[in-house]
Amino acid sequence: MAIDPDRHGGPVNRRYHKRMALRFFNTYSREIEEFEPRDPAARPIKIYTCGPTVYSRAHIGNFRAYIFEDLLQRHLELRGYKVHRVMNITDVDDKTIRGAREAKVPLAKFTAQFKEAFFEDIDTLRIKRADEFPSATNQRYIDRMIQMIGALISRRLAYQAEDKSVYFRINKFPGYGKLAHFDLTQLQSTGRVKHDEYDKEHIGDFALWKAWDEEDGNVKWDSPWGPGRPGWHIECSAMATALLGDQIDIHSGGVDNIFPHHEAEIAQSEGVTGKKFVRYWLHCAHLLVDGQKMAKSLGNFYTVPDILAKGYTGREIRYALMRVHYRAPLNFTWGGMKEARESLGRIDEWLARLRETAAKKIDEGKTAGEPGQQFEEALDDDLNISAALGFLFETIRETNRAMDENKLDAASASAWPDWWKRINTVLDLEAEAEAPVPAEVAKLANERENARREKNWKRSDELRDRISALGWEVRDMKDGQKLTPRGAP
Ligand SMILES: [Zn+2]
Repeated sequence: MAIDPDRHGGPVNRRYHKRMALRFFNTYSREIEEFEPRDPAARPIKIYTCGPTVYSRAHIGNFRAYIFEDLLQRHLELRGYKVHRVMNITDVDDKTIRGAREAKVPLAKFTAQFKEAFFEDIDTLRIKRADEFPSATNQRYIDRMIQMIGALISRRLAYQAEDKSVYFRINKFPGYGKLAHFDLTQLQSTGRVKHDEYDKEHIGDFALWKAWDEEDGNVKWDSPWGPGRPGWHIECSAMATALLGDQIDIHSGGVDNIFPHHEAEIAQSEGVTGKKFVRYWLHCAHLLVDGQKMAKSLGNFYTVPDILAKGYTGREIRYALMRVHYRAPLNFTWGGMKEARESLGRIDEWLARLRETAAKKIDEGKTAGEPGQQFEEALDDDLNISAALGFLFETIRETNRAMDENKLDAASASAWPDWWKRINTVLDLEAEAEAPVPAEVAKLANERENARREKNWKRSDELRDRISALGWEVRDMKDGQKLTPRGAP
């Protein structure tokens, strides 16, 4: 049985006498720390999250991390913070180049299909879009990568080896290994440097710039060190600092990103700026399927469309991937999907019942408690979603019991849906409303559908805003657009 970090928050129904601060487990210190933005006056909170490498369709393990990041952003917003979040798209690396070569198509064409699939999936899962999704191959960021590599060389933190590639010199960066709590001597004790890495000074030195070779085909950019392409790690350092500045509040990703990727990001960014790059490092644990690591070879590898094809909805997948604390391993099972469906059914039924009760206008009898802050306070505690959901279902049980006994008055019956509306800004788990769509909204939605068919994303976003101004939210589902009234009860 794995350690379940969501238990550290104590029992589900504890009542706080005094509001405790928002706090997160910081991988860097390995401690729960109170969240203090870098500069409280300089809103918004800057968040950088490592996005997909678009060489295949993302799997549900990837989406577990993206849903955790969605929860993080939405909870910060519920607590009154404004958030500016950047998620990168890695569209050039070994895997994308190999995929394009095997498919015999240009790299950009190969990656475009997976970028599109990624956006389709995040919409299906109701994941709030980041403010920006920079692509590594954008010339603006390539220029920034080259500039950063040049700065690292001038500081003797990087060198060009005989193979023409440029490497980061990890021995010159004193903090290297601090994030992963990794002892560099372990690397050194492996002794002999492998034959194919004879050019590097140290086995742990990582590539900043990879010299072009035949396998790369026409994937190459000019640089002061000759034609080549960036290493994966420098892509993130360049995009993060280009869009968010030298210092950011929160950087997140999956635990498998800690080493070497995030360790390298710190070394590169701080090596260039001389400033502390990230205040809080948050990492999401693995997803297992039926207790095993997900692998194509084991036949337990699932994408979002794979699960939709089994008759489940995006809302149900969202719930199933969200309900376990982000630092605990999540075991995905079909039984768990069924439970997700049942849990959502209980929420739907409860909401419908509350609305009916509110309409009956019962004024006597006692109320079944007042909506408090317990849900938010559970999330303040390092995003303790299992405690927060535990509180939600306890509330459902209590109010249902009061309704069974005809003891819920109209005021309480309408106070709870208001409370739900507030917590649902974080959960986003309400069923699609079946409200009639006004003609004007339908017309704009049609225009938007056409714009999307023509891949005119700018126009599509404009139309989304106009639809939103009319009080409707448009979502892109697998089978087309879905319209829901914003703020519907
Ligand atoms: Zn990254």
